[in-house]
Amino acid sequence: MRVKSINHVVGLALGAAFLCAASVPGKGEPPLTEQTMKSGGQRPAEQLAMTFDSADLAFEVVPDTHVLNGVATLGFTARSPLNRLVIDLDRNLPISAIVIDGAPLARSAWSNPQGQLTITLPNPLARGDRVTARITYGGTPHVAVNAPWDDGVVWSKTPDGRTWFATTAEGYGCDLFWPCLDFPMGEPGKVTLHITVPRGLKAPSNGRLLGVDTLADGRTRWNWETKHPNTYAIALNVGPYEEISGTYKSRFGNTIPMFYWYLPGEKAQAQALFAEFAPTLDFFETMIGPYPFGDEKVGVVETPHKGMEHQTINAYGNAYAKAPEGFDWLFQHEFAHEWFGNQLTAANWDDYWLHEGFGTYMQPLYGQWREGDIRYAVMLDGERNGILNKAPIVRDRLMTEEEVYEPSKGGAGLDIYNKASWMLHTLRGLIGDKAFFDATRRIVYGRPDPKPGNFTPRFGSTREFEGIVRQVTGKDYGWFFDVYLRQAALPALTMTREGGGYRLTWTTQGKSAFPMPIDVAVDGKVQRVAMADGRGFVAAPAGAHVVVDPMARVLRSNPAIDAFQAWKAAQAKKPK
Ligand SMILES: [Zn+2]
Repeated sequence: MRVKSINHVVGLALGAAFLCAASVPGKGEPPLTEQTMKSGGQRPAEQLAMTFDSADLAFEVVPDTHVLNGVATLGFTARSPLNRLVIDLDRNLPISAIVIDGAPLARSAWSNPQGQLTITLPNPLARGDRVTARITYGGTPHVAVNAPWDDGVVWSKTPDGRTWFATTAEGYGCDLFWPCLDFPMGEPGKVTLHITVPRGLKAPSNGRLLGVDTLADGRTRWNWETKHPNTYAIALNVGPYEEISGTYKSRFGNTIPMFYWYLPGEKAQAQALFAEFAPTLDFFETMIGPYPFGDEKVGVVETPHKGMEHQTINAYGNAYAKAPEGFDWLFQHEFAHEWFGNQLTAANWDDYWLHEGFGTYMQPLYGQWREGDIRYAVMLDGERNGILNKAPIVRDRLMTEEEVYEPSKGGAGLDIYNKASWMLHTLRGLIGDKAFFDATRRIVYGRPDPKPGNFTPRFGSTREFEGIVRQVTGKDYGWFFDVYLRQAALPALTMTREGGGYRLTWTTQGKSAFPMPIDVAVDGKVQRVAMADGRGFVAAPAGAHVVVDPMARVLRSNPAIDAFQAWKAAQAKKPK
C-alpha cells in the first residue's frame, strides 16, 4: 500500500511534538533503534541457517495502558549447525522468560540490546535438528506517527469513544510486535494467533477462525490459524466491529468465505463495499488466477489507518470515498496484493516492484475490465504524472525495505508503484495480452495452470520474471527491463526531419540498445515502426500531421510532464 505517500515520516523526530502529558505513549514513542527500523538487507548467518516452521503467537491487548503482552512459541529447523538463535524483536518489549524445548533458560542466556535478540542454546543444533523457543515478552509497543507510511501500533477511538486498535509493519517489519525473522524470506510456515481483548471488542486477524474463548474476567480470546503469511502480514485489529459475511463460488470450483468487519453505524456503506468483493474476485480470478487463500478466507477490516495488504485480513481505511471509476481503489489495491505480495512475495526488497508495480497496475486494468479503454487510459494517465525517474527501481543486490522505499536513502520511492505499473503497461503492449498474462500467471503461481490445491505462496524475483518472459515469448527482452528497471531516466525518442519523412531515434541513459517499436500516425494513418537498433524512419510528406504513439503504448520521456511536475513543485513551495 502506501501509494499516496510522498514523505515516509520517521517517528523519532516528530514523536516529541505529539507526546502528550498523559502516561500513555504519544506518536513516535517509544523510539526505535536503527536495527528495529531496518527490514531485510544483509542478515546474520544464524538467521539464514534456520527454517522458520511455525509461530504460535499469544497477544494480550491492554488499551487502558497502551500495553501489549505476548507469548511467542517459535519452531525452527537448523539448516546447518547452530549454537545460538538470532531473532528480531523491538527492545521496547522486554523479555521476561525464554524456554527452549521445555527447559527455562537462565537470564544470562539471552540479550537484546538493540532489537536483535540472541539466545545461546543449551545444546547446539546439528543440521536437521528442530528447536522450540517460547518467548514471553511485553511492554509499550512503538506508536506509529502516521501509519501506514511509518509503522507501529495505532491506538484510536471509534466515534462513540470505544477502543479501535491496529498494527502495521511493512516498513519497519514484524519485529515491532512479535519475535520474528525480519526479511522477506523469513516467512513462518504456519502461524496460530490467540488475541485477548477487552470485553465487547473483537479481534479479526489472519487466516481461519478456530474459535473465540470467553475468559473468566469477561475478556475474549480470538484464535486464528494461517499458512505462509508474509512477515509483515501478521496484523492485530481490535474494535467493536460488526460483521458482514458471504460466500463466493469460484470458477475454479471452490467456495470462498468472505468477511468484512466494520465500525457500528456504517452498515449501508459497509454493505456497498462488501458488494464490491465478488466482482473484484471475478476480475482477479479471470485475469490472473485463483484467489490464493480460498481455504482460509477473503477478509477485510476497517482500520484507523489508510490501508495495508495484511494477508486474508486486508486493512481498509479509505472512509468509503467515491471516485469516478466507480470502485474503491484502496480496497482494490490492497486486494491485488493477495496475488502480488502475499501469494507472490519478493525474495528481496530489491524486487519490491513485484508487489507495488503489479498492485498499482491492477487499478487501471480493473477500470478497463469494467468500462473499457478510456477508463484504462484515464487511470494510467494519473499514474504517469507521478513518475519521478530519480533512481532505478532494481539494483540487483540485497536491499533493505528503506533503501528501496525511501528517496532520502536513494530509493526509487513511488516509482516502484507508478513507473513499474507503466513498465507493465508497456510490456503488455510489446508482447501482447496472451504472453503478458501467461508470464504474470507463472511468476505468481510458479506454474502456468494454477488451480486451488496445486500451488502455495512463493518467492519471486525480477530476474525470474525476465526469464519467464523470455520463455513465454521465445525472445530476450533484457534491453527492455534494463532500461525501465535498472536506469533512472526514461528512454527518449527524438524525431528529426530527413528526406521525405522523419528519422526516429531512441536514446537511453545507459546508451544501451533500445529496439522498442513505436506507432506513428501520419495524417491519421497509424503505422508501427520497428526501431531495430533503436532507429527508424517514417515517410511523411511535408506538412503532414504526425502524432507519435497516439495510443500511449510506450513509457518514454515527456518534457511536458517534467515541466508540469516542476511547476507543481514550485507552486507547493509558494506561501499560501
Ligand atoms: Zn501497495
